[in-house]
Formats: sequence, structure tokens, C-alpha cells
Amino acid sequence: MSPLLHAHGLRKSFGPTPALRGVDVQLKAGEVLAVIGPSGSGKSTLLHCLAGILTPDAGEVTYDGSRLDLMPDKRRAQLRRTEFGFVFQFGQLVPELPVLENVALPLLLGGHKRRAAVDTAWRWLTRLGLDPVAYGLPGELSGGQAQRAAIARALVAGPRLVFADEPTGALDSVAADTVMELLVDVAKAARAGVIVVTHEARVAAYADRCITVRDGRVAYPAAVPARGT
Ligand code: ADP
Ligand code: ADP
Repeated sequence: MSPLLHAHGLRKSFGPTPALRGVDVQLKAGEVLAVIGPSGSGKSTLLHCLAGILTPDAGEVTYDGSRLDLMPDKRRAQLRRTEFGFVFQFGQLVPELPVLENVALPLLLGGHKRRAAVDTAWRWLTRLGLDPVAYGLPGELSGGQAQRAAIARALVAGPRLVFADEPTGALDSVAADTVMELLVDVAKAARAGVIVVTHEARVAAYADRCITVRDGRVAYPAAVPARGT
């Protein structure tokens, strides 16, 4: 079976500074890949190239048989909305909207009817233990709750690929474990691929496979750390 996502020879510079110097990545449907490495090594740049947010200077990104790097911006943006989900370090929920509305938003933007969107959002909030705070505002949530809401929002529209950039960076280790368990469980259940950028071994321990980025290159195929380290 051909991979869901396949990147080859990715290079990207910001001015004279090379951030990526020839990176290859593959991801199968339902697979969780951790990208680890020190700060400034190029992890976020790689994630943004794989998600079609940045265009690489050289190399290819093939998603589901199509060249993402060659697609017109409009088509790429549409793909990001309909087939990709995103989780960032700080949930980036819309602060003025209740949690329920935040989670329903991708469905509403995707043209679903309000009733169906709210019903689906409720199911996700219940599944992630957030139904008691559904009508609260994001500012009233704990860090862990906000990240669980961000996961619900990233997965509500049924993406095939989820990109997570330091999803637990602002959490204590107990909340981080809960968030990673939920992210991996719900993604596996939906057979979505997940790429998680992290500098924490305990987060990488949830992945099926792990690569280390150092100075813009994949340094070596790293072993997945044992849980609880
Ligand atoms: P992290 O290393 O945790 O991903 P950074 O603080 O390095 O976060 O970067 C945060 C954001 O700023 C990213 O979107 C990154 O692309 C951008 N960024 C990083 N370094 C620079 C820079 N030298 N100039 C402009 N933007 C940058
Ligand atoms: P990481 O995610 O591993 O911390 P990044 O991908 O954010 O690393 O950054 C890799 C390198 O590229 C760093 O030297 C960073 O300063 C630089 N960089 C990232 N984004 C930008 C940007 N938008 N403008 C200029 N430099 C950037």
C-alpha cells in the first residue's frame, strides 16, 4: 500500500539560513509518527511543509497520490480544511466562542447544518470528558481541558491526517499523558495519520515510529522511547 504522506528531499531556507537540508518522511494511514529534536532543528518547518502551510524550496510532498507542493494555494487551503486537523501548543481556540461552538466550527465552515454540527460537537466533548464545560469560554478551561478541546476541534470533521506541534508543551506531565492518550486513541479509531512534533521523550513514547531532526536533517531513525520515562 502506498503511504498516505510521502516527502522526499525537502529543503527550506529562511534567507541565508537553511532550516531543512534534505528530509525524507513517510506516513501510513493510522500511523503515529513523532518528530523529535532540539529547539531550532527544523521540526516546525518540516511540519509546516508537510501540511502545505509552507512551500519547500526543493523536494516533493505527496499526499494521497497528489503533489501537495505543486497544488495551487486555494486547493491546498481547501485540503487543509477538509482533510487535515491541527493541534498547536496553545489550543488556539477562539476566545469569544463557547467551547461547544469552537468544536462545531470546522463543521459549520465545511457547510454542515447547524443542528448536525452541534450534535457531533457534543458527542466529541462527551467522549473527551468536556461536556461539563461545553458552554464555558476557552479562558475558563485548564490547560489540559483547552488541549482536549483543541483535539476535539482538530478531529470533529474526520481528517485523514492530524498535525500536532508541541501539543503538550504547556501542560504538566499528568495532563500531557491524558492529552496524548486521547489524541492517539481517537486518531487510531478514525485511522487518521498523526505527526506530532515534540522535544519531550514522554510524548514521543505514544508514537508508533520516531524520527530525530538535527540541523535540518533526519539524524537517525530513533527508537520510540519507553512509556513513563
Ligand atoms: P518552536 O521552536 O517552539 O517551534 P519558535 O519560537 O522557534 O517555536 O517559533 C515560533 C514561530 O516563529 C514559528 O512559526 C516559526 O516558524 C517562527 N520563527 C522561528 N524563528 C524565526 C525567526 N528567526 N524569524 C521569524 N520567525 C521565526
Ligand atoms: P524547531 O521547530 O525545531 O524549533 P524551526 O523549524 O522552528 O525549529 O526553526 C528552524 C530554523 O529556522 C531556526 O533557525 C529558526 O530560527 C528558523 N526559522 C523558522 N521559521 C522561520 C521564519 N519564519 N523566518 C526566519 N527563520 C525561521
